[in-house]
Amino acid sequence: RSRSLSPSSVLTPRRSSAGAPAPAPAPPPARHLFSDPAEVEALRRNLLAWYDECKRDLPWRRLAATEPDSNRRAYAVWVSEIMLQQTQVATVIDYYNRWMQKWPTLQALSQASLEEVNELWAGLGYYSRGKRLQEAARKVASELAGQMPRTAEDLQKLLPGVGRYTAGAIASISYGQATGVVDGNVIRVLCRLRCIGADSSSPAVIDWLWDMANTLVDRSRPGDFNQALMELGATVCVPKAPLCGECPVKQHCQARHRKLFGKPAPVPDVEDCGVGGCPLCPPATEPWDSSLGVTNFPRKAVKKQPRVARTATCVLERRGCHGAPEYLIVQRPSSGLLAGLWEFPSLPLAQGLQEEEQREVLADHLQAWMGQPVAMGSLRLIGEVVHIFSHIHQTYVVYSLPLDADITLDPALSPSRWVTEKEFYASAVSTAMKKVL
Ligand code: SF4
Repeated sequence: RSRSLSPSSVLTPRRSSAGAPAPAPAPPPARHLFSDPAEVEALRRNLLAWYDECKRDLPWRRLAATEPDSNRRAYAVWVSEIMLQQTQVATVIDYYNRWMQKWPTLQALSQASLEEVNELWAGLGYYSRGKRLQEAARKVASELAGQMPRTAEDLQKLLPGVGRYTAGAIASISYGQATGVVDGNVIRVLCRLRCIGADSSSPAVIDWLWDMANTLVDRSRPGDFNQALMELGATVCVPKAPLCGECPVKQHCQARHRKLFGKPAPVPDVEDCGVGGCPLCPPATEPWDSSLGVTNFPRKAVKKQPRVARTATCVLERRGCHGAPEYLIVQRPSSGLLAGLWEFPSLPLAQGLQEEEQREVLADHLQAWMGQPVAMGSLRLIGEVVHIFSHIHQTYVVYSLPLDADITLDPALSPSRWVTEKEFYASAVSTAMKKVL
């Protein structure tokens, strides 16, 4: 059942500038492969036995194991997989339960409004995920007669927002398709099992890992096997201090072997990786560091620094019924960062502005918007709130403006509304805005 792995991006001959085929790079040595069928069988057996005994009891796993309706099962897995992208399991559980209670089927989700989706998603981050989930549910309901696609290939092709990983997870867990998955946890485990130290975010290495995942996946329990591999990465083979002593696949782990015995395990009939010649070994300039042990793997290219941004934001406050404070929120545009979410009136700031200048541009902005003068002195500087988005280091400079009289907002501008504190927290507002309040 084991097959020779040859991801095209690693091994395809390249053309030289003169047009003649350049010599193909040497194939990676066998220590980066699972080439022994008996070892593959043993790894599957050990991993699944551990999973059966140690897996965490999670609501989407319970649903996937007990739901007889295959469409609903696939929908339940799909929602969990989208929520789990970029978000910790502990955070997702509560959102997941509320979501499935509100929209137990994809037909129910297809009838929800984006506002409702954003409200439930508020605080989970990466808001386009919820929006795309709902768009895809609408597509299944209207164009696919309510039937979820049943293979990884069709799921990826037909559903917006469903990439290769999510498609593989839904197909293997819900429909038993023997297809592997590669997410961050799987990358870490596989790179350690097979001492892959080349940049694990490069397309060639990712292709290699997908081939390896497809080779390893258990043919009779693919969904459980994929979840077991991810569970191992999440709970045992963790990034900083992996629990190798408790690991069910430690006897198959090349990184652990290297840590314990120094040299890589010898592989019969195949040369060890030559210095600098192997596309899967660490670069010659960054060799094995014995103080890191198994955490030598995986390696990643240095991440791009996040963009630094500053935004002035103003909490306009008035006394509502019974004297309770009310706050003005406005809706963001329907595309781009935090699309369609609500926020306090805000204005991106140019770099290097002094406090007086910030106050002045904010007063001008509010004035144009409210159609009445706003004295700079009436804006009270409260402080700064820092929020890290995946690619932006965002600082909100927070002002407050108490209002005695009501104001009339230009209806041609963004939709806006007054909310009590309780309504604010129930609205589709980002975590950053909750920090601001
Ligand atoms: Fe990860 Fe250690 Fe297990 Fe290897 S032995 S897979 S490094 S936990």
